[in-house]
Amino acid sequence: ETSEESGPAQASSKKPSEPAIFISVDRLPEMQEARLRLPVLAEEQVIMEAVRENSFVVLCGETGSGKTTQVPQFLYEAGYASGTGIIGVTEPRRVAAVSMSHRVAKEMNLSTRVVSYQIRYEGNVTCDTKIKFMTDGVLLKEIQKDFLLQRYSVIIIDEAHERSVYTDILIGLLSRIVPLRNKKGLPMKLIVMSATLRVEDFTENRKLFPTPPPVIKVEARQFPVSVHFNKRTPLEDYTGEVFHKTCKIHRMLPPGGILVFLTGQAEVHSVCRRLRRAFPFKRGNTASGMFLKKYYYYYLFTFFTQSLHSSLPRIDLDNYSALPVDEGDEDRLAGIDDEEGSDLELGDDAADTEEKADPSLPLYVLPLYSLLAPEQQAKVFRPPPHGARLCVVATNVAETSLTIPGIKYVVDCGRVKKRFYDRVTGVSSFKVSWTSQASANQRAGRAGRTEPGHCYRLYSSAVFGDFSLFSEAEITRRPVEDLVLQMKDLNIDKVVNFPFPTTPSAEALVAAEQLLVSLGALEEPPPRLSCPISPLGRAMASFPVSPRYAKMLALGKQQDCLPYVIAVVAAMTVREIFEDLDRPAGSEDESSKLAQRRARLAQMRRLWAGQGASLLLGDLMVLLGAVGACEFAGCTLKFCEENGLRYKAMLEIRRLRGQLTNAVNSVCPEVGVFVDCKMAPPTESQVVCLRQIVLAGLGDHLARRVQQEELLDSKWRNGYKTPLLDEPVYIHPSSALFKTLPQFVVYQEVLETTKMYMRGVSAVEPEWVPQLLTQYCHFGSPLETPSPWLCSSTGRVKCHCTSTFFRCGWQLPAIEM
Ligand code: ADP
Ligand code: MG
Repeated sequence: ETSEESGPAQASSKKPSEPAIFISVDRLPEMQEARLRLPVLAEEQVIMEAVRENSFVVLCGETGSGKTTQVPQFLYEAGYASGTGIIGVTEPRRVAAVSMSHRVAKEMNLSTRVVSYQIRYEGNVTCDTKIKFMTDGVLLKEIQKDFLLQRYSVIIIDEAHERSVYTDILIGLLSRIVPLRNKKGLPMKLIVMSATLRVEDFTENRKLFPTPPPVIKVEARQFPVSVHFNKRTPLEDYTGEVFHKTCKIHRMLPPGGILVFLTGQAEVHSVCRRLRRAFPFKRGNTASGMFLKKYYYYYLFTFFTQSLHSSLPRIDLDNYSALPVDEGDEDRLAGIDDEEGSDLELGDDAADTEEKADPSLPLYVLPLYSLLAPEQQAKVFRPPPHGARLCVVATNVAETSLTIPGIKYVVDCGRVKKRFYDRVTGVSSFKVSWTSQASANQRAGRAGRTEPGHCYRLYSSAVFGDFSLFSEAEITRRPVEDLVLQMKDLNIDKVVNFPFPTTPSAEALVAAEQLLVSLGALEEPPPRLSCPISPLGRAMASFPVSPRYAKMLALGKQQDCLPYVIAVVAAMTVREIFEDLDRPAGSEDESSKLAQRRARLAQMRRLWAGQGASLLLGDLMVLLGAVGACEFAGCTLKFCEENGLRYKAMLEIRRLRGQLTNAVNSVCPEVGVFVDCKMAPPTESQVVCLRQIVLAGLGDHLARRVQQEELLDSKWRNGYKTPLLDEPVYIHPSSALFKTLPQFVVYQEVLETTKMYMRGVSAVEPEWVPQLLTQYCHFGSPLETPSPWLCSSTGRVKCHCTSTFFRCGWQLPAIEM
């Protein structure tokens, strides 16, 4: 499979089709001036020569050296977008794609019709687009439509060091696409750009690039950064520590911007609010000393009125406080509301006890995270109002994707929010964990861009010593069934041979392939491994959800179930739709309020679960009921607050429903499904159909209640046996099926808290198992199997069944009820 057509050796003969034109760009003088200061500009000749001579080029340089903003411009000026092809740039983060396209358009004095972006939900690409910034996922989808990417003359893979799964796969794919294009006489270039980290993963990988591509290093002027470690490492309230450290810097240290690293949006907002309160700053005022004295009382006055306002329960879209906060509690509470998933922000709204509000030291506080609106993001690049110090409170996006000017101090919490995947349940969660040494050093580097700086690490040097050296490539930390399906859809049947920059474990690849075969997405092998994709698999690959859920969508067109399947899948894909009411209460008052809200939510859950037939759909019926009821009420904040739903989750479900509906319509236009906000509850026969569809998708998550005579010890009482786990799993008390305890259930995931609890439980009729999940069953006569319905040690369900079986394809077999 290796190609002779890559690497520096072959490309040195100039092809006639190489662009030799120079397109002039009318930049505004101030833009031109700013550009000239960027280190990458000194390397323009070297870079462009390497690109002309080679199909693959690796460019690495310190963050902020100008790679992302300048290299597309070099290519544009060299005529790479003047023929039929355009320049494509991929970013792992949406925020970077949007922000960089705006920046480059502005620098080049061109409209966003020419320098555009495309991300999952939106874009401004036109037929005039010459430079297109996009997320890596968007380009991967385009490869599915046109493997040769004929629209592009150059692809830049930016931020390759982040090692996002899609970036890795794109590099692997492009290492094959580029030689193919060259062979066809449609030359194409690939430029991989990365911070100065571990480029060897790309360059020294012979499977990827048989001849090592040239590596161009951009030396950036970097000023020394003094690193200060904490003596102790706060384990609990690190946002509080971040806040106090930032206050101290602002009070005691000379001018210079502060950049704070936290892990998530909720934390960012919490710290921003506390800082704004401690150092009130009124927009539009210039803060010279004289001015401040004169207006001191004015500031005090506005401060008091502000705190008056803010002591009323205040609701805004991004973070809302559903519970009134007791004065004095806020500091303590501010520390515990930071996990993603619980977006319940308890505002610390009164003056901070330790940090007295000090309007004489204006601090211009700005949040920065990936889902922030673009206008808000753009603010960090503008100089702060005269006399005020800039303080940006950011998540990981400020580590390498965006460079904020004028930063002299960095406050690093040392943590990062990462996706974790459970190998057993295969379901992901977000957890805050320590970052890597490489990332911590990147963060520190942000302080030394314009002058010597300081980095305050809120952890000890011993803890730093224990950090891993580099962050692992994402691909090694997650199950890969969705990737395997995408690749099979590209007709890459031997996924093991794919030139991954880091190959996932063989175990993970085999597990993925097995799951896909059992879902019917791949043809059954005679040749083991490398099964080709089935027509069902092609349909599934076009749905932007994991294969288990994609299977449900593919089956959903029967009995008009599709709108329900779409709603349920959307709700299952969003992490937690119910408000988290299980946290400990701070005061008696609060605990009684919490109890009230819990009771209300429980009541609503019962209502949504319904009676009789629909109850058996279980927790998925509750999801469906919640979505249906919320949409019926217009999906308002009020409805969500009253009924214990997370407003943001409901908005995301709404967006996903639209997206999934479009995807289904483009796969099978004859279905003509649409999003109905006044959707009626499913009929009884639709509920039965839905339960079977759910079983067909979640079949590998089947659990069987342990029967009386099998009770080995008391822990198995009311326990369920699953094929993969040795320990019993249980139905959670909050589940709709807690009292029913059906004989067979499927579950969405297993979560370990005090016990191993199944989440998203739905009841299964025993006779469906052998018919819908033949692949998981051993068949024998009843006489051979004295104890039916036992999970054997091989993880299969033993069934006695004499009827004919069906393979699960597009249609559910007719099952008699
Ligand atoms: P790299 O990709 O090498 O990390 P960039 O091209 O992103 O570097 O950034 C180069 C410079 O452009 C940085 O100094 C950064 O501050 C500046 N910059 C980037 N985006 C903007 C913007 N929207 N407004 C103002 N300056 C920006
Ligand atoms: Mg960059």
